[in-house]
Parts: sequence; C-alpha cells; structure tokens
Amino acid sequence: MSNYIVLVKQVPDVSQITDNAFDLDTGTLIRTRLASVINELDTQALGFANRMRQLSGDEDAKIVALTMGPPMAEEVLRYSLSRCADTVVMLTDRALGGADTVATANPLACSIRKIAKELFNGSDDYFVVSGMQSVDGDTAQVPPQIAEELGISCIAYATDCEFKKGRFEFTRIISGGSQVVSPKRLPAVITIAKYEYPLFASFSATRRANKTKVISWGASDINATLIGAKGSKTWVIRVFPPGKSSRKCKHLSDARQLAEVIVESVKSSAGAAGADKQAARYVLPAKRKSVLDRSFEGTAKENEDYRILTGKLRELGISDAAGIDEQTKEKIVASAGERFHKNALDDMLLGLRAVEPSYKGEVWVVAEHRAGVIHPATFELIGKAKDLAGSVETKVGVVIAGHNLQPMAGELIAGGADNVYVIDDPLLAEFDPIAYRKVIADAVSKYWPQIVLYGATPQGRVLAPLVSYRVGCGLTADCTGFDIRDSSRKEQIGTLFQTRPALGGNVMATICTKNSKSQMATARPGVMKRLPADKTRKGNVINHKVNVTQDDISLEIIKTELGAGKVNFDAEVIVSGGKGMKDRDNYEQLLIELCGAIQTRLNVSIEKGASRAAVEQGFAERIHQVGQTGTAVGPKLYVAIGISGAIQHMIGVANTETIVAINSDPNAPIFKQCDYYIVGTAEKVVPELVAALQERS
Ligand code: FAD
Repeated sequence: MSNYIVLVKQVPDVSQITDNAFDLDTGTLIRTRLASVINELDTQALGFANRMRQLSGDEDAKIVALTMGPPMAEEVLRYSLSRCADTVVMLTDRALGGADTVATANPLACSIRKIAKELFNGSDDYFVVSGMQSVDGDTAQVPPQIAEELGISCIAYATDCEFKKGRFEFTRIISGGSQVVSPKRLPAVITIAKYEYPLFASFSATRRANKTKVISWGASDINATLIGAKGSKTWVIRVFPPGKSSRKCKHLSDARQLAEVIVESVKSSAGAAGADKQAARYVLPAKRKSVLDRSFEGTAKENEDYRILTGKLRELGISDAAGIDEQTKEKIVASAGERFHKNALDDMLLGLRAVEPSYKGEVWVVAEHRAGVIHPATFELIGKAKDLAGSVETKVGVVIAGHNLQPMAGELIAGGADNVYVIDDPLLAEFDPIAYRKVIADAVSKYWPQIVLYGATPQGRVLAPLVSYRVGCGLTADCTGFDIRDSSRKEQIGTLFQTRPALGGNVMATICTKNSKSQMATARPGVMKRLPADKTRKGNVINHKVNVTQDDISLEIIKTELGAGKVNFDAEVIVSGGKGMKDRDNYEQLLIELCGAIQTRLNVSIEKGASRAAVEQGFAERIHQVGQTGTAVGPKLYVAIGISGAIQHMIGVANTETIVAINSDPNAPIFKQCDYYIVGTAEKVVPELVAALQERS
C-alpha cells in the first residue's frame, strides 16, 4: 500500500506583481505588497497524487500535505485538506528563513523522514509528489535535492501516470519527446510539469478542512543539518528589473504591411535582437597593469568605491596598500565623504592585496546526448566555458557519461573542449538520474573543477541538483548570463556571477556560490553562443572509471517517444504553427501556402516548426517542435501563428533576428516578445498574407 506526501508551497501571486514589490537594495521581495496563493503546479501535484490513489484502488492510502513557510502558509494546508489531503504538516520556524534550495530541501527531507516514521509506521512504501517548480523560485531544484538527501529515486517532469500490473508507470517530458518510466524502488520523488485535472473543494471537505488539526513542527523537531541563510550555499548579490525587451513589439493593422515586413526582414540581416551580449573580458588582478585596478568588482557600488579609493591612492602616489598610516586613512575617508567609512576602507585596503583566484581547477561542462547525438546546449555551454576559462586562465573540461562515447569525444574537442572526461559503461547507455549523478559526482570530486555548467534541459535540471547536493556545492538554476567578477573587499577573486530571471521573469537576480568547492549552474539553452567546430583542434580524452552496478539504476524505461525524420532548422525562415491552428489539416494547408509564397517571393530556405501543444495535438511531427524541449532555432525570420508565447517556446527562438506573430487574442503574451504582430485568426490573416506576398512577385 503506497502513501503519498504532497509538497505544497505558498507563493506570492506573481501574475499581479507591481514595480514597488522589491527592495532593490537588499534584493528581497516585499511579500506584504503581493497577495499569497498556492503554487499552481502544487495544486496539480495534489490532483496527481489523488489520481494515483484512485488508480491504485487503495482507499486506505494516506495523502499528507507538507509545507515549509511562515505561519500564514497554513492557508495552503487548509486548501490541500479541502481537496484531497487527510493529514497536513506545517514546518515553521524563524530559523528556517532566508534559505536557498539546499537549505529548503534539507529540512523538508528531514520532515519527510519523520512523516514516514511517525505517520506511515516506518513504511518505505510512499511517493513524494510535488510541482516541478514554484513560481517564486523557478529553480526545479528542491525535489531532486530532497531525493538526494533521502537517497531515493527521482522522476522529474511527469505529466501523467497509469497503474499497470500492480505498479505505477509515469509519462515524463524529456528533450525532444516523452518517456514512460517506472521507479525500481520506493520511496520515490515525482515532480509534476503539467497535470490538467484540478480538484475542486466540496462543502463537506471544506468544513472538515477547517476543523482538522495542523501538525506543526519547528527546526528542533526534525534534526535538519542545513537550515536558513547559514545552511545555504548560494547568496543573492543583487536583484534588478529585466531590461526592456529588445524586440520592437510593433502592431500592424493589415496583411499587406506584414508582407512588407517579412520581405524587409529577410533582405536586411541585422543580427539577433535577443542574443547574449558580451561584456568586457575579465582579467585576473595579478595580470592587470596595476593591482590598484579593481574595475571588475561585482556590484556597481563596489566598483565605484574602489574607483574613488584607487584614484585617491594614485593622487597620493601610493602603489602599495600595505603600509598606509592612520593619518592617510583619515584623509581618504574624509575625501570620500559619506561614501565609505573607516572599517569599510580597511576592508578595501585588505582587498587590494587579494590577487589569488578564490577557486582553482578547470571550467567544466556536463555533456548531454542521446543516440550518439550531442545536445546543442552542450556546445553552447562549451562556447561560454571557453570564454570563462580564458578569463581565469584555465582549461575547458567536458565530462560525458554513457556508452560508446569515443566518437562524441572528438566532436566535443572540435567544439572547444581541452579535456574530455569519458565515463563509459553499458549500464549508462540510457540516462538514469541516480546512476548518472553517481558517476558525474565521482568525477567532480576527483578533479574539483572550479565551475560546472549543465544545460537547463529536463535532464540537466534533474541531474545538476542531484550532483551538486551530493558533492555539497551550491547550484543556480536556468542562468542566462555568466560573468567572472571580484568582491575584493571580501577577498573573493575570480568568482562566477550567475544571472537568471526570477519570479516568472519579472526580475533578474545575480547569484554567487558560497561554502562550496565548486560553483555550479544550469544555463538556459539557446542563449549562449556555440563556437564553429574546428576539426583540427587537439585535446585529451581521459577515461574515468566508476564502478556501476544494476543497484545504481533507479528507473525502468518502458517506452521512449522521440521525433523521427529530418528537419532543416538551419533554414533562413521558419514558419511555426501552434494549438491555435485548430487541426492538422489547417496546420498543413496554411503553413504550406505561406511557406510557398515566402519561398517564391524571396528565394530563401524555409522550414515548418510547431509548438509543443501543436505536436501533442498531432498537428505536426515531434521533430518539428521548437523550444526548450524541442529545438532552439535562430533563423533570420520566425513566423509564429496561433502560438501564445509560453516561456518554454520563446526560449527556443531567442536567437532569431525578427519574430513575427499572428494571433487572434489581442492580449497574447507573444505580442510582448516579438518584433511585429497582427491580431486576427490564422484562417483570415494567412490567406491575405499569401495574396499580399504574391501581389508583387
Ligand atoms: P496555447 O498556449 O494553447 O496557445 C494557442 C494560441 O493560439 C493562443 O494564444 C490563442 O489565442 C491562439 N489562437 C487560437 N485560435 C486561433 C486562431 N484561429 N488563429 C490565430 N490564433 C489563434 N512548448 C513549446 O512550444 N516548446 C517546448 O519545447 C516546450 N517545452 C516544455 C517543457 C516543459 C517542461 C513544459 C512544462 C512545457 C513545455 N512547453 C513547450 C509547453 C508550453 O508551456 C506551452 O504549453 C506551449 O508552448 C503552448 O503552445 P501553444 O502556444 O501552441 O498553445
């Protein structure tokens, strides 16, 4: 008999976010300025757990909802009781505040142990079900980190389940398709990416919910080892508003204007509007012309403080910060005005002596591949790793686990790797999160690279939290920018500043690693630039042996569905259809007509694309899917028809030069992320556009 623990979280309602919701100095969200709601994916997790209980036919199975948060988070437990939970547990304590994902996962895992012991009589037959991520953190890290702390399996990105021959089979999203898997052992953590069968509250359940006693635990009840800000392994350096979209977002009123825009966009190639912009390359302090040069400080204030200080030192003809007397210090403080005080000056002077990098070792990328094909995100990360490694004067390493890897090692070297660490074993032929985390963690803790980057793909976003937690390092999720910077005052030199969108893209946060031997991050595919392959490059292949046994394999893979066939996503123009195309006939007919008209008019290479929803509806083959779990594309022109503009789709088109959208909803989110748009149905606009393109050909 399986029981269920559903993790539920109270989050700010980010759909209602206001400009003044942040304290930009401290980087914290002012929670009182936003309403609190239950995290949407956790409501789906409740529905999912309830469905599992129904499918198993076991009416005695218990559903326990668990939350960690301030006392007011009790509301989400009442919500859970009024849907399907039998028992609710609240973990609340001031000491738990200010935690990152590691210091959230650790106390939650300890609470799960206590629930299993006290509420399930020590039974191991249970599932932990949770939303894949929460809208405030967007990291997807906590559930796999819980699995790692508990030493159990993790099935991430689940969308459905079935109960067959006495066991559960889960459908989950993978890069390029979907997979059906079953855990070989229980307990197991399941994270829900999408489950569209919400539970509603009944009158009687709501009455019961109000009467049920909440079990409340504090930090001392659970024996957690990592809690609060102290137990965290990352810290937020700054929070800032996202830059305004560099897309034009221009409304067009008729198809003729749209035809002109299409012609112009293809003729004039201006370069991608959304592409990653390169900052000035970091140089280690010891390699700068003067150790007084501290222009690579982490924050604008630190930079400015050092500019004032070093300007003053130069003025006074001082080049060695060591022997400055008290009188000179007084002078500097006085001339800096209110900018910094004596203690801060002492820290800064100490910082001027810091020249040695805080981390040693290579910059690593964890490679992702399937059926002998390396995921494009791996090459993008190698491009970025080369840049970072150049700054801190080290080499680029790529670690790859799997079977029959030798041909791929050559491709990785051509792509920019100096050293390829190969972990080859027949048992690693298919990605298994627990087995892969064992071998990658083994390599990391032998070589201790200073930076480890993973693609923020469904695979990378489960593997990275497992590995980082196992080796005791901090991890930042879904980064869109990396910089090497100093915090000289804190004697941190050459550290990785990791920038990522947070709170549903409403803010950007720059994060650093602390209390870790290696700095780890996942990076959003399609944002970094890959280097052109150079087959003449030389590199080393290092075989890393790890003992893998059947016991390390946590999942049985029952079925894998991937896109088959050929597609030319290097085409100059991609025309994509979404769920708004209504059916397969409409998708095919309208796209064929439009592609034909563009090709005849402009004589360019052209390919059809689709959103994931369109693929799931059967309008297009999976190989045509564009986006986070499809293919990231970067054509001159991308035409999106009947596509709403979900983040997972738009990630895949970030490197496009011009994006044009056709959508019947005047408030479609894609209109804020494209260059030109027209409001109207595909059935009306596309034939008009075809006619306008044909008019002048
Ligand atoms: P919808 O969001 O349903 O939008 C349909 C749009 O069509 C609406 O804007 C509507 O106004 C418009 N419309 C309706 N009728 C018409 C008409 N007659 N004419 C014109 N417009 C019309 N999605 C991807 O695309 N790629 C991915 O790689 C991807 N990976 C994912 C990975 C994960 C882990 C998860 C959780 C999700 C992923 N998704 C991906 C799904 C993504 O979140 C969205 O659900 C999906 O992109 C929506 O597709 P859509 O825009 O076609 O459909």
